[in-house]
Amino acid sequence: MKHKSMYISTSHLDNSKNLFYKKKPNWIRVKAPTSPGYIKTKSIMKNFNLATVCEEAACPNIGECWNQSHATFMILGRICTRKCTFCNIKTGIPEKLDHNEPKRVADAVVKLGLKHVVITSVDRDDLEDGGSQQFSLCIKEIRKLSPLTTIEILTPDFQRKQKAITIISDSLPDVFNHNLETVPRLYKEIRRGADYDYSLKLLESIKIKNPNVFTKSGLMVGLGEKFKEVCEVMNDMRRHNIDFLTIGQYLQPTIGHQPIARYVSLEEFEEYKNYALKIGFLMVSSSPLTRSSYHADEDFKILKENHKKYLRSVSL
Ligand code: SF4
Repeated sequence: MKHKSMYISTSHLDNSKNLFYKKKPNWIRVKAPTSPGYIKTKSIMKNFNLATVCEEAACPNIGECWNQSHATFMILGRICTRKCTFCNIKTGIPEKLDHNEPKRVADAVVKLGLKHVVITSVDRDDLEDGGSQQFSLCIKEIRKLSPLTTIEILTPDFQRKQKAITIISDSLPDVFNHNLETVPRLYKEIRRGADYDYSLKLLESIKIKNPNVFTKSGLMVGLGEKFKEVCEVMNDMRRHNIDFLTIGQYLQPTIGHQPIARYVSLEEFEEYKNYALKIGFLMVSSSPLTRSSYHADEDFKILKENHKKYLRSVSL
């Protein structure tokens, strides 16, 4: 099977100006992963024949996360049916559904000793349920083998297939995460095939069906968005009852991907965080290296604490 990587023609651009070739700011540079914990996590994932978004998306945090066994599972194969211009995941003809995958995911959760697990997937627009059933089966298997592990799923939009909303909300994850990725003005360029309003609606629908499920969404900055536009997206998220926001710096995986527009300063990340807290998010992670699953374990504990505090404050 031939797999093609996402590639955008950049021949019209003056590449000497492309930030991809310039030295990254200090706050974005990380060390190459070498720790024993990293090697152990890598070998467990390989033995169970499981993919991770950490590797497939070339995440800069892999050394730190894997040293603590925090790998983010990527189910439904390594080939995505969409072509988002920011993403490093391969696109093309997807693999056959692996019916044994949910059990292997649960076995790996046990082996890694995870208290909190994050599961994501490629887009599977070819499947009748968008891949939602495989998420549900993974949750069931993990609940069986590791009942104390809390479960966060980071899903695609299931190509707006309505049955996916029922399947996902019936499967009761602890956190439902779906990334808006960027501001609506840039969707056509960056997130083709997705619909900003539908993504918001999906998050809201899961919350309406199960108010106890925390909802979470993330944005990348440095793609050409304006400060005000990011604040407007945050307002939209709050209007749709999203609890937890992540904001991180976009990093251009290869010269063929969406060019990076700028490195956002640490001060600006702080401003985003302050604004988000002011408008009522229960939890915000905003920093250059923030990714959807970065520190997801610790952040989930804080999220629950903040939720309790909020409930106490409204009952007074
Ligand atoms: S931030 Fe998420 S995707 Fe990146 S290495 Fe950590 S767990 Fe993996």
